[in-house]
Amino acid sequence: MENPLTPEVLADPVALTRALVDIESVSLNEKAIADCVEEVLRGVPHLSTHRHGNTVMARTDLGRSQRVVLAGHLDTVPLNNNFPSTMRGDLMYGCGTSDMKSGTAYALHLAVTLPEPRYDVTYFFYEAEEIESRYNGLNLVAQAFPEWLEADFAVLLEPTYGIVEAGCQGTMRSVVTTAGVRAHSARSWHGVNAIHAAGEVLRRLQTYEARRVTIDGCDYREGMNAVRINGGVAGNVVPDHCEVEVNYRFAPDRSPAEAEAHLREVFAGFEVTVTDTAAGARPGLEAAPAKEFLAAVGAAPIGKLGWTDVARFAAMGIPALNFGPGDPNLAHHPDEHVEISKIRDGAATLHRWLAPA
Ligand SMILES: [Zn+2]
Repeated sequence: MENPLTPEVLADPVALTRALVDIESVSLNEKAIADCVEEVLRGVPHLSTHRHGNTVMARTDLGRSQRVVLAGHLDTVPLNNNFPSTMRGDLMYGCGTSDMKSGTAYALHLAVTLPEPRYDVTYFFYEAEEIESRYNGLNLVAQAFPEWLEADFAVLLEPTYGIVEAGCQGTMRSVVTTAGVRAHSARSWHGVNAIHAAGEVLRRLQTYEARRVTIDGCDYREGMNAVRINGGVAGNVVPDHCEVEVNYRFAPDRSPAEAEAHLREVFAGFEVTVTDTAAGARPGLEAAPAKEFLAAVGAAPIGKLGWTDVARFAAMGIPALNFGPGDPNLAHHPDEHVEISKIRDGAATLHRWLAPA
């Protein structure tokens, strides 16, 4: 295949978005797109380029006092009659237009066209963000070459519709168990009903007042919800066991340990088992490159409520945020599209931030 990422295409973030969308790259099928990206970057004299699996990293080494990361994933969710791209007026339709080849195009465009950025920049084009964490390119790099990720600040170019979404909330999955004593339902007074006991668990959730926390000007709204309930033996048996699965989304001022302590306090008197946890990330907007980034955007940041790869950087002590042109509500949607004007606005913002003064 001839590389569609020609110099002319690389010079224009809109044309580049379209070219990237038109290289099919459903998760675990990123070899072709990674080959194209790697070939381009290896030809750029001001970058040193490395590859791990289907993740490509390129960096400047200008001796600047600060280093920033720009990162975009190369993969998409499965196609849904939305490949290749199509244009309708100011809108580009297709799988990956919003999530997130328009954002990834920024990183590739700047990598090629900005030989002397104000900070040293590490550009990541990584595989397998849309599937389980064990395939995630940033996760694999963090294990194999953690030094590649060293930086003072990171921007993940995920869809945020042109605003800054900072940090992210943590998430904890747990199971609250109630116990009882089995009996025939015809003589139920010999037993203790574990499903009835779960009523108290649900009552505590229903009356639970979730916190709202403001950190660095960003609002985070917590939530604690029953997401599944399991119990019952047979139609004529008083059940002795019931499980309520509870998902707790917690603001990034709480560590996973603090979140767990809070959860146990809420369900005092019940057996609580934590099954899965992912830490949140503080917005970290105090770092100098972050402040300058916000000034370039010129609009107030908001807190990210879902979990994103921002938390991987936060876990390494690197403040990170999300910024991209796509509409996050259209990600993974068959009508996925991106506005051309949003691509141009965001490209101008990043250029203002990174171009030498
Ligand atoms: Zn994404």
